[in-house]
Formats: sequence, C-alpha cells, structure tokens
Amino acid sequence: MEELIRIKVEESIFFIKKGTPLSELLTELPFDQKPILFRSDGQLLDLSHPADRERAIFPVFSGDPEALEVLRHSAAHLLAHAVTDLFPGVQVGIGPSVENGFYYDFLRETPFTPEDLEAIESRMREIVNLNQPIKRLLLPKEEAIRIFKERGQELKVELIQEKGGAEVSCYTQGDFIDFCLGPHLPSTGYIQHFKLLSVSGAYWKGDESGPQLQRIYGTAFFSEKELEDYLNFLEEAKKRDHRHLGQALELYSTSEDLGGGLVIWHPRGAIIRHLIETFWKEEHLKDGYEFIYSPHIAKLDLWKRSGHTEFYEAMFPPLEFEGFKYQLKPMNCPFHIIAYKSRQRSYRELPLRWAELGTVYRYERSGVLHGLLRVRGFTQDDAHIFCRDDQLEEEIKSVIRLAIKLLSAFGFRDYGIYLATRPEKYVGRLEDWNKAEKALEEALKASGLPYQIDEGEGVFYGPKIDIKIKDAIGRLWQCTTVQLDFNLAERFDLSYVGADGNFHRPFLIHRALLGSMERFFGVLIEHYKGYFPLWLAPVQMVILPIADRHEAYARELQSRFQAEGLRVQVNDSREKINKKIREVEIQKIPLMGIVGDKEIGNNSLSLRIHGQGDLGQVEVERLLTRVKELVQSKSLEIKL
Ligand SMILES: [Zn+2]
Ligand SMILES: [Zn+2]
Repeated sequence: MEELIRIKVEESIFFIKKGTPLSELLTELPFDQKPILFRSDGQLLDLSHPADRERAIFPVFSGDPEALEVLRHSAAHLLAHAVTDLFPGVQVGIGPSVENGFYYDFLRETPFTPEDLEAIESRMREIVNLNQPIKRLLLPKEEAIRIFKERGQELKVELIQEKGGAEVSCYTQGDFIDFCLGPHLPSTGYIQHFKLLSVSGAYWKGDESGPQLQRIYGTAFFSEKELEDYLNFLEEAKKRDHRHLGQALELYSTSEDLGGGLVIWHPRGAIIRHLIETFWKEEHLKDGYEFIYSPHIAKLDLWKRSGHTEFYEAMFPPLEFEGFKYQLKPMNCPFHIIAYKSRQRSYRELPLRWAELGTVYRYERSGVLHGLLRVRGFTQDDAHIFCRDDQLEEEIKSVIRLAIKLLSAFGFRDYGIYLATRPEKYVGRLEDWNKAEKALEEALKASGLPYQIDEGEGVFYGPKIDIKIKDAIGRLWQCTTVQLDFNLAERFDLSYVGADGNFHRPFLIHRALLGSMERFFGVLIEHYKGYFPLWLAPVQMVILPIADRHEAYARELQSRFQAEGLRVQVNDSREKINKKIREVEIQKIPLMGIVGDKEIGNNSLSLRIHGQGDLGQVEVERLLTRVKELVQSKSLEIKL
C-alpha cells in the first residue's frame, strides 16, 4: 500500500505520496509569485525535495534574504560547470556564496586571464539559456567517489572521503555534477543576473603548504537593477581605494624592502596623522585622561603572566638577548597595568584614565595584508580605565560620548552599534559580568543611538561594545571597541584600598575609539575619496601666478597665510595656467587662488573651491579670516 505523507503548507493540509517532490503541491497553492525554495524546521529545502515525513513547509520567494544566498551558491555551481566545460582537466575545489556574491576555487596551472573570464561568463549564459534542471542525487559513497575519480576530480574525492556519509548528496545540471548538500534553485534558468568579477590566489583548505588554487569571484542578483547598482558601487569603491589614492596623493607607502604590512607615512599623510592625533589628545585631556608612553618590547614573562602567550595567536616570535626572551608588543595593556601596580592605589584616585597612541606589532599572514587596513605594525588610539564599581556606568557613558564626538567630527554620523554579552565559557564573577553588561547597556541607552545586542557573543574575559561607522558609500567599518576585562585584572591581581580600608579589585576597561591610526586613515581616504576637509588637507591652498611678474605677490600671500598656520603652496612653474589648474584638481587640493594684475591691484585673489568652481575675486584678509574659522571649527564643507 502506498504511504501518504501529511504536509502542512502555511494553513492548508495536503496528503501526498511518499517520495513525491514537494513541488507538486505548488499547482494547488494560490501564490501570486512562484516560490523558489521551501523552508521547513528552519532549514531550506529544494522545491523538488521528496515528501519524506510529516512536516510544515513555507514558501521562500526570490525577495527573501536566504534566497539570495541560494541563488549565489547556484551561480557558483554554474561557474564550475562552465569552467569544466571550457577547460577539461581543471579540478574544482569549493564554491560557497559569500557576503556580496560567490566564488569557486579551481586547480589549474595556467592563470585565468580576463579573456578567460569573458569566455566563462558566455558559457555560463549558454547554460542558463538551456534552463537545465538542477537535481539532487543521493549516491552511495563508493559510487560517488568512483564518479568523481572518473572525471579526474581528485579534490572532490578527497572532500567526499572526509565529509561524505554512507550516502553522499550530489547535485547535477546537464552533465555537470558536484558534491554538495544544497539546497539549490530548481534550474539554471533562474540565474539571470550575474557577473564574474576577479581572480585571486587561494590555498586548498586554506593551508599554505597545500596546492595553490585560483579563486574566481562573481556576484548574482535576482534583478538586473540590483546587479547594476552593485557594479556601480564596486566602480565607486575602486575609485576610492586607499591604496591607489595613497600612492597618487603621496600619503603613505609600503614596500617589499621593509617587509609587508609595515607602513611609512609620507609628509602629506604624516601631517594628517599629526592633526588627527593633536585633536585626539586635546579631546582626551578635556575628558580627564592622562597620557602614557610605553616601550615596544617587554620580557616574554610579562606576556606569560598576561596570558597572551597562551591565547593570543598574532604574536611575532620572541627576541633573545642577555639570557632573556623579549616579546614585540601586540597590545599596550600590560604596560598600563604595570604602571598602575607601581604603587598601592586608593579609592580616592580612581578613576584613572590612561591613554596612549601605542604602536603594536601583530603577525598577520602575508596573504591577508591589505593596504592600511590589515598591517603588521600599527598605532592604536588606546586607553585603559581603572575604576570602582560605583563609577563604571558613568565611565562607559563618557567613553561612548567621546567616541561619538570624535567620529562625528570626521563626518561619520551613521553607526552600527553592537553589545556583545557573556558567552557560555567565561572568567570572572557573574555579578561583575551583570554589572558590566548593565553599565554598557545603560551607556548605549543614554547615547540615544540604536544598538543591537549580540547575546553570548562576548569574549571570555568580558562584555564589550563595538561601533562600526558607515562611510560615504554605505560601507560599515569596525572602529570603536569598549571592552571590559576580568581576566587581566585577576591575573595581575589589581587592587585598590577602599574607603573601608580593605583591598578591592578595580574594573578594567580597554577602549580604542578610532581603532588604529593606520586603519582609520585608510577609511578616511576612502570616505573622503582623497578630498580631505580643509582642516585635514595636507595642502589647503595653491596659489597660481598668471605670469612671472605676479610671482612676488603670490609669495607674499603664501607667507601671509603660512604665518597664520595655514598650509599654502605657490606653483610658479613655467607650465600653462590651465595645466596648473588641472594639477591642483588631481592633487585634490581644496582651494586655488589665481593672481594676476587685477588681483594685485585690489589686494585679492581669484578663488576656485573644489566642487564649487570659480568664485571670482575675493579680498585677501576676508578669505584669510574665513579660512581660519573653517579650519578651527573643523568644518567639513567650505562655505565662504
Ligand atoms: Zn552546491
Ligand atoms: Zn588593553
């Protein structure tokens, strides 16, 4: 007798034969849009999933976020299908969906060229037009291994041997087969709007000693409009790439002569850093911080006591001399703690707020280094706050206030704020965790900003707040961290003498507001697209004399502005004036003053402002006063 299975679809009940594809129910259902997947017990299923047991199923449509991942993963299969069609003998690795698209890894000696990508994309389109059904196959393990061996897909054989059960789930489309748990879209025709983007190197299973693969990246969407918008966004992001702008504007450099991930700040970048640091220091002093300077190495034993040797992976190997091992510092904390412990502290001197622009060194693998964003030596805008429990909430509130004040001064007004709470495994006392989590949340409430709680996502030694900033094209960048630490306080046995005459453990807060100078600078370059606001611009104005006889006047103006602390250059080269104007634009300098006979006659200059064009003659003293005001107020726009 045939077994009937009870399936609940939204509110309706159906009975269908066991093993029948669930998609057969679709004809009886009144959806105006065609579902592309089902969701059941929190899992996604193929439309063709066979009725296996009683379940409730819900339709998933192309607009749903989880559908996008399935589309992209299906596009990855499509990519591998096209590559194996066009390049026989290429082995395929893995092909997941990722944040903004998908990739697939391939083992092939010859590098894929841009022309290859075009050919692959055309082949993908042909397969889409064939609208081949994407089918799931359950194969006995031995048979699956045999099939992939026959096709020379040794990497897949390895994966099946490692991960496959007695029955192995595979997907086919046409003559292509992949080892995969799914789910997938019903057929290749669903993948209409996609684009291959780039090729980069990758290692098999991320292991640097293993075979090197080529990773082809692509993206896919459910509509052409979304695809176009995303491609435009990538175009815009490319124009803002800090590595390109950093070189073009001579802001910084890295070099293989130094070693990867080590940054030299050139004068035009260094002046910006100086201005950021000065602003940072002034604001910290206003908030009652004191400064600390600490060395770049310390005995390895210190890092043993702090626990870094045990749990912190990004440390360089130690140096050894005079019978002792020393460690390049990956963090500033132990130094501030040693300073705290230099004598007995009393409740009356807390809170102590100790800040340092502290340079740290972390071992990042060369493959992950990226411009200013992932480096091996960087300067954190660090501070450690030691306080009593009755001060905790106010301290955190003031950290959040300061963070928002600094970030908004640079033009960041949109944030992603996350509070990560106690994980399953933790150190410290439960009541301290509760107190700290409450203080963090109260501080966020007081800020009036929206935030999200990541339950259980805190690190083992304390809860934290992370603030990400949204840049000019909507990207979020990790920036501020406020982190409680019950571990170091314990390991270093921190104490103060309370009003009761007993020893108490202070709360220890680590916090960095900008993150690191390098990373923040990278983000700033991309956010401003190299057009720094007046107060940060390495050169604020260039003066262009029209002819030789106007040079002396140009120099006079330069001295006048420089005497007021402004950064002004004169371009008196023999180039044509239009070429000089173009040069100023390329250098992204905010103000340009052109001087000739008329300007000398009425003590003015002809002003051009970046993005605003020609403003005509402006009287010198009036301009000087206004520019000084704009710089002092850190104005992000130039309004005369
Ligand atoms: Zn798959
Ligand atoms: Zn710290």
